[in-house]
Amino acid sequence: MARHDRNERVSVLISFHEGLDYFLKPNQRSHQPIGRTVDYRTAIKDVIESCGIPHPEVDLILVDKQPAEFLFQVQTDCITDVYPFSSQRASSGLQGRGIRTFVADGHLGKLVRDLRLLGIDVAYRNDPDDRDLLTIMLREKRALLTRDRPLLMHRVVENGFFPRSQKPFEQTIETIRRFELAPALAPFTRCLRCNGVLNCTEKAAVIHELEPLTQLYYEDFTKCPSCGQTYWRGSHVEKLEKRVENILARATDQET
Ligand SMILES: [Zn+2]
Repeated sequence: MARHDRNERVSVLISFHEGLDYFLKPNQRSHQPIGRTVDYRTAIKDVIESCGIPHPEVDLILVDKQPAEFLFQVQTDCITDVYPFSSQRASSGLQGRGIRTFVADGHLGKLVRDLRLLGIDVAYRNDPDDRDLLTIMLREKRALLTRDRPLLMHRVVENGFFPRSQKPFEQTIETIRRFELAPALAPFTRCLRCNGVLNCTEKAAVIHELEPLTQLYYEDFTKCPSCGQTYWRGSHVEKLEKRVENILARATDQET
């Protein structure tokens, strides 16, 4: 094996698998390995991100067919294969498992609403700056949902996800699959407005808030202890129930 001193450069041939080529420039999506020449002892994470792939999207790195950590330092010419999370593969340890709480950036309001509708805990404000998002993420140990690639590449981000689709329905399916949320879904248990967990409440306690017809036709109510919003199974709920049904059908239908 050739010896390298610290001024030398080494070459990496790097292949991105299972859809990670989404992040490559169009002219690099040829399924040919990408060549990079880097300084001796460059971290493999930096090589991967220099190709445009945010590190939270990477769950398995093989350097010359051996599993490697993000901080693995490239010391000789090598061939590297990079894979995203897959529920079909045993954990390789780069991404956490069992993540159930999230913070979403201000452009994903409709995804947030869907996830809360399904009972998933998602912190969100429609005007946070990046520092606020990262602070909430770290303080509350949440995974970051964003389509802002530089933000997802921030070094303090451990777990996160970049929904590929621009459509909220598809983003919801993608997020459920990526974090294996299907067993944790509890539709209609969380406030769509503020993320609070709903409590059942007596009709008598909320009757003063209700329109006359609502007072007449509904008996079961829930209330958000955080923002005070009252919920009942009005006609609008049928539409939401249909959406939940469609999401659950797609999310549990493998990779269609
Ligand atoms: Zn609320």
